[in-house]
Amino acid sequence: MSSLRQKWITAPLLNWIKKVLPPISDTEREAMEAGEVWWDAQLLSGKPDWDQLLDMGPPELTEAEQAFVDGPVEELCQMVDDWKISYEDHDISPEIWEFLKKNRFFGIIIPEEFGGLGFSPTAHAQIVTKISTRSTSVGVTVMVPNSLGPGELLMAHGTDEQKKHYLPRLADGRDIPCFGLTSPEAGSDAAAMVDAGVVCYQEYNGEKTLGMRVNWHKRYITLGPVATVLGLAFKLYDPDHILGDTEELGITVALVPTDTPGVTIGQRHIPAMQAFMNGPNWGKDVFIPMDWIIGGQENIGHGWHMLMSALAAGRGISLPSLSTGGAKLAARTTGAYSHIREQFGIPIGKFEGVQRRLAEIASIAYVLDSAHKTTTRALDKGLKPAVVSAIMKAHATFGLRQAVNDAMDIHAGKAIIDGPLNYLGNVYRAVPVAITVEGANILTRSLMIFGQGAIRCHPYLLQEMEAATNPDKDQGVKELDALLPKHAFFQLKTFCRAVFHGWTGGLFASSPRGVGEAAKYYRQMNRYSAVLTLVTEISLLSLGGELKRKEMISARLGDVLSELYLMSSTLKRFKDDGSPQQDRPLLEFAMRAGFHNIEVSLIEVFHNFPIRFVGQLMHFLTMPWGHSIRAASDRQARACANLIMVPSETRDRLTKGVFPGNSGDGIDIVEQAFLSSHETEAIREKMKKGGLRALNDNAIDQALSDKLISEEEAEKIRKTSELVNKAIQVDHFESLPSMSPERGSEDTLQ
Ligand SMILES: Cc1cc2nc3c(=O)[nH]c(=O)nc-3n(C[C@H](O)[C@H](O)[C@H](O)COP(=O)(O)OP(=O)(O)OC[C@H]3O[C@@H](n4cnc5c(N)ncnc54)[C@H](O)[C@@H]3O)c2cc1C
Repeated sequence: MSSLRQKWITAPLLNWIKKVLPPISDTEREAMEAGEVWWDAQLLSGKPDWDQLLDMGPPELTEAEQAFVDGPVEELCQMVDDWKISYEDHDISPEIWEFLKKNRFFGIIIPEEFGGLGFSPTAHAQIVTKISTRSTSVGVTVMVPNSLGPGELLMAHGTDEQKKHYLPRLADGRDIPCFGLTSPEAGSDAAAMVDAGVVCYQEYNGEKTLGMRVNWHKRYITLGPVATVLGLAFKLYDPDHILGDTEELGITVALVPTDTPGVTIGQRHIPAMQAFMNGPNWGKDVFIPMDWIIGGQENIGHGWHMLMSALAAGRGISLPSLSTGGAKLAARTTGAYSHIREQFGIPIGKFEGVQRRLAEIASIAYVLDSAHKTTTRALDKGLKPAVVSAIMKAHATFGLRQAVNDAMDIHAGKAIIDGPLNYLGNVYRAVPVAITVEGANILTRSLMIFGQGAIRCHPYLLQEMEAATNPDKDQGVKELDALLPKHAFFQLKTFCRAVFHGWTGGLFASSPRGVGEAAKYYRQMNRYSAVLTLVTEISLLSLGGELKRKEMISARLGDVLSELYLMSSTLKRFKDDGSPQQDRPLLEFAMRAGFHNIEVSLIEVFHNFPIRFVGQLMHFLTMPWGHSIRAASDRQARACANLIMVPSETRDRLTKGVFPGNSGDGIDIVEQAFLSSHETEAIREKMKKGGLRALNDNAIDQALSDKLISEEEAEKIRKTSELVNKAIQVDHFESLPSMSPERGSEDTLQ
């Protein structure tokens, strides 16, 4: 029976799979194999095991980590003046560099035995989040040495000798690292770099030494202009067969001291007016001994795999931290400003148009913070969830962009006019940087999230692809044959679940115990997990490798997976926080917005599916009633907006980790005006009842003489009036801060 099945079913199927498989390059395969799957696999199983997620609990800091956040991080934020850094000095001051080095900010992830702080991913993330709310330039400066780059690569792959030499020097800032991957020819397609090395012998320190002669041109390299050690990625060739038969040895990563002969460190790029160090560098016939390769000679050709493994974790920390910080900053300041800024005689936050945007900002901050917490918790447990990290990188930065755009629109002129009083303008300018680096968002959303997620998270697909490409065809048929019945059973279960929950609107889907009123959301999550799993199966079956080229389809399916991840993190956070009733508007808004996006994405997939009939069939099977969950109602939006316009535990919980500014800073003035305005609300009401709507000296004098308020109350409201007046001010300058740097030419240096 089994041999008949193999002959008549499995073997033709294997041929078909081979034919429809997308061509997978070595670099794509290595990217696919980096890190592991986690909750993403549950979401694409059609029946997520919620205990796996909910039992993880909230992320926690150790005493030492908390003390660092409350001590040196707080002190650093107090020292930083972002306006001075960005517009006056265009640089971080020597005192701040010294402080960062002395307090081992560059060694957050380096183990204590090598002189670093040895902190967890959660601590690392909280540190970067807080600093980023003060200054993106300082945030990036701290972020880069602690993420993808020499430190992380050495810890994971370095030889003992390399670790002993470099890690203590990186931890205390004697060495400043940078990482050079991107070149003018190769941006998103980094593996297409033309930077190349040739294996050779050369005299080095008086001895004939085996090494590589390397030429490169890298650009956009963060910390490049001040780096003392460059992590360099290049393609290695062995045309003279010094090492063996193979000529193309693959992408290799070495550590190159920047004072090595032949290395030219370029001048500075100006990335969106941010002041962190960034610039190009070149190498001309630079001799690199073999033992400078990270991990030594045996790691020749393993560079891409090393980078992808590092990205699998790192992408879940750096940009998501900066983005979460930015979204929380937007929520805290915009809520406050909307309360104190009055137009047409009332606070602008009372206008419904503004309220809808405020609700979006609050919800984004809530969702990003939740997903950030869930992700760093997984990283604390030693997981490297590559697809989840890609989701976080893309969607945290997308979320930041929306939150900051809305915050800018609400602040209007107040956030457009630059100066020390403006706490948002620089975050706004930094958004495209976050969108572009560590895998530009359009690429990550369109190609990676679903492209990798569908294959990696599927319980059988990767194994089936391996069986189909097995050079020993008979063995491949046997392997595939063993997988087929399991896959068929999985498809049957998925089909029944998705169709049943689709037709019954998720009414009978299960929910975990102990989640109270939130159970209805879990039911819908289970429903859409089943639907996505079935749609994935059908899409893969009907389009095969063509799906890779249909980026508009796979981007939308990736959005559904991403929403499910963000929403499940939000549900987990609500539970971890003790299901506080006051936070319910945030949960409701976020859930409805998420389900709405999921339904829009799925229906667009059905309408645009390349095989029309298949699209219609999927629509009929899984969403026969069309949209079933409405986006958040206006009532829910109002409730959500109000949460960030009043001082409360919810507001503090939502915006925890935002540096509140030093006394007299723009952000502090707005907060003081906000608090004072709430404290004097009753007095203001008395004035309004007497027909005095304005908040100024004339109105207060009038209220006093009309005996609407007492002397004491007049004193208090006068203080509020003063603070509000201060808070709505913007800067003006005698002359504009100058920046007329001499322009370097890349061509002349090549
Ligand atoms: C401020 C800054 C700091 C940086 N720091 C570093 C660093 O320290 N080290 C380093 O090595 N690099 C660094 N980079 C480089 C960064 O990683 C690249 O900019 C990024 O990879 C994108 O490359 P690119 O800018 O050349 O854009 P391109 O690759 O030209 O992409 C242009 C657009 O096309 C899209 N696109 C490309 N391919 C596809 C596809 N297949 N499907 C869909 N869309 C696609 C991209 O998403 C993007 O929107 C930095 C960049 C900046 C701006």
